[in-house]
Order: sequence, then C-alpha cells, then structure tokens
Amino acid sequence: MKKILILGSTGSIGINTLDVVRKHPDKFSVSALTINTRIDLLIPQIKEFKPELVVVVDETAAKNLKNTAGINCKILSGVEGLVYIASNFDYDILLGAMVGFAGLLPTIEAVKRGKRIALANKETLVVAGELITSLIEEYKAEIIPVDSEHSAIYQCLIGENINEVEKLILTASGGPFLNKNEKELETVTINEALAHPNWKMGNKITIDSASLMNKGLEVIEAHWLFGFPKEKIEVVIHPQSIIHSMVEFKDCSIKAQMGIPDMRLPIQYALSFPERIENDFAKTDFKKIKELTFFEPDFEKFKCLKLAYDTLSSSGTTPCILNAANEIAVEKFLKGDISFNKIPDIIDNALNNIENHKSPDLDTIIECDKETRRFVGKSLLCNFS
Ligand code: NAD
Ligand code: MG
Repeated sequence: MKKILILGSTGSIGINTLDVVRKHPDKFSVSALTINTRIDLLIPQIKEFKPELVVVVDETAAKNLKNTAGINCKILSGVEGLVYIASNFDYDILLGAMVGFAGLLPTIEAVKRGKRIALANKETLVVAGELITSLIEEYKAEIIPVDSEHSAIYQCLIGENINEVEKLILTASGGPFLNKNEKELETVTINEALAHPNWKMGNKITIDSASLMNKGLEVIEAHWLFGFPKEKIEVVIHPQSIIHSMVEFKDCSIKAQMGIPDMRLPIQYALSFPERIENDFAKTDFKKIKELTFFEPDFEKFKCLKLAYDTLSSSGTTPCILNAANEIAVEKFLKGDISFNKIPDIIDNALNNIENHKSPDLDTIIECDKETRRFVGKSLLCNFS
C-alpha cells in the first residue's frame, strides 16, 4: 500500500489522481491533501478519502474548514503548512499537482527526503531544473513525470541506452488557435482560449496550451528530466493527441507511446511504476481513429514557444523569468486586462530587462521570481494597459 500526499487535490490533476486512488484501494491510500482556497471541493474529498492532515493555504478558507461540522482531520494553513507537510509528514509518494511557481518549495522538501515525486507541476522544473536535478542525485530521490508527453518519453526510454537516442519528439495538439492567423490572434476571447480541443484542464495550463507556452515549458521540462540539449528536443503538432510523444534512435527507429487522451493513465503509471496495473479506461481502437496527422509548429505565430526554446541557450535564471512573466501575463489575460497576443510581448520584455544569474541557488530563484513579478507589474502599468 503506497501512501500519497497530493499537492493541489482540487485541481484537474488532483481530481484525476483521486479517481485513480478510488479505483485501486488495495494499492494506494491518501495520507494528506493540500489546496489553495476551494474548501467546497475539499470537504467531500476529506469525507471520502479520510486523510490524516490537510493544508489549506488560504488562511480564511482554512478557518472556515475548521468550523465545518464533521471534519476531524488536522488542518494546517499557509505556505508554511505546505513546507511542513512535505518535509515532516509520513507519505511514500508526493503527487505534485499544484499550478505554477508555488509548487517549488514543497517539491524541494520531498526531494531532500529522497521521496518519489510524481510530477505534474512542470513549472517547478522550469524554474529550478538545474538545482532540482542536482538535489535528486544528492538525496537519491526520483521524479516520475505525470505530464503526458514526458510520461510517454519516460516509457519509450525504458530498456534503452541513452547514448543511442537521436532526439526526443514532443507532440502538441496545437490548441484552439492552430488554424488562426497572427492577425486573428489579436482579437481572440478568453472563452475561445479556454476551449481546448482535446483536454479538460485548469485555466492556466489551458491558456498556455493556446499560446503554445505549455509546449515551450515542456521542452524545458524534457531538457531537465532527460538531459538532452534543445537541439535534440523537437516539437511536432499532432492535433489528435493520440501519440503522446516519441523517441528517435540512432538507427532511425522510433518508439511512440499512444492512447486515448486521459490524464489518469500517466498519473496511474507514475504511482504504480515499475508495475503496470489494470484499469477501466477507454481502449484505443485504431479502426475508429481515421487519421493521425503531423505539422511543423509556426514559431512566428506562436512566439511563446520560441521564447521558451531560447531560454535553454542562456539557461541560469532565464527560464524562471520566462515562467514568472508568463504566470502574470496569463493572469492578466484571464482578467480581461490584456489581449492574448500581448502575452509573448510581456515575457520578451521581462527577458530583455532582467539580469540572468547562472547556476542559481534556491534564494536566487525565489528572488528572481519576485523581481520578475514586480517588473512585469510596473511595465504593465506603463506600456501594456
Ligand atoms: P488546476 O488549476 O486545475 O489546479 C491547481 C491546484 O493547485 C488546485 O488544487 C489549487 O487549489 C492548487 N493551488 C493553486 N495555486 C496554489 C497556491 N498558490 N498554493 C497552493 N495550492 C495552490 O491545475 P491543473 O490543470 O490540475 O494543473 C496542475 C499542474 O499540472 C500544472 O502545473 C499543469 O501545468 C500540470 N499539468 C496539468 C495537466 C492537466 O491535464 N490538467 C496535464 C499536464 C500537466
Ligand atoms: Mg503535457
């Protein structure tokens, strides 16, 4: 029986993770849950999965939960609660399903305890890939990717000699704006951007998928997870999302991992690895899939993808600047404060104005994130409103 700590249990990945646990009560149990604010979603989860401890980061929401009848587990609040739970509490696997930079601190605590981390929260690896990679080696921790592309590559690499890999091929659905031109991107609405053709996900990653920043973040994530330079990480648009990603080898052979899009599959794999366990997910019927198509991404139209690739040339804190500027820009777009095509402009401006620090330690990364948020906030007041 593996005890799981879920960071971000009320989000899309968190809810899918709980469904995997629900279906395998003989293999997995929930030891603790953490969320930001939505106690209305957390309360039924507590009643069903009976965690010993929960963390509600928002203080007011935590107080409200303490006053709720029938809730008997221990309740902590604040970022300190998150760090405490990751660093002191009893669990076997940390499932990182928080969104954004906020996932970094608890993930580092789990690494320092040599735990298995089933990682969906890609922003953590984007902002601190170099640091986390070295800590993983030092503390003998293990990251099993939950992001479907990286889970696919992880599975394709098993049993292979890493020196015989020619390149990693990340597939991208292309998002809702695949067939819009650059001019049309100026006027797309929030609802259009939130209408992802293949996946139902949280708002931030859905906007990232529309701008292709999600794929850019995934290129950086793949770089740190598998240790390949950006020249050996290719992105190909594959609108059906059946092939989750591929690995090409020196002999021109290509391995792909496929299946009907369902995040429960990579989540279950990251929890059960090295075992594969049965489930009742939809089976892939190739006779019903009429076609699998592939295109080159348009780097001119989707500038975020290019910006993300470019940060791998300079490395250091540039991916952290890219991520923080993107988090703010997406937040502003979702509030209706800026248009969709301003997202890459805001990120580019931050990358051009904030100093890069090589091989950053944790304090430098935290300071870079704060500095970028301050810079973007100020420049939005002056230039982009
Ligand atoms: P979501 O917005 O649906 O859920 C986010 C969760 O994190 C919620 O439980 C929320 O309470 C919690 N949270 C948010 N901000 C927080 C904060 N500041 N402190 C503490 N908790 C906080 O997001 P999601 O779609 O589930 O995505 C989660 C992560 O997984 C993201 O990094 C995303 O890129 C990655 N991911 C998601 C999918 C997907 O299908 N949804 C696929 C691949 C990767
Ligand atoms: Mg993905």
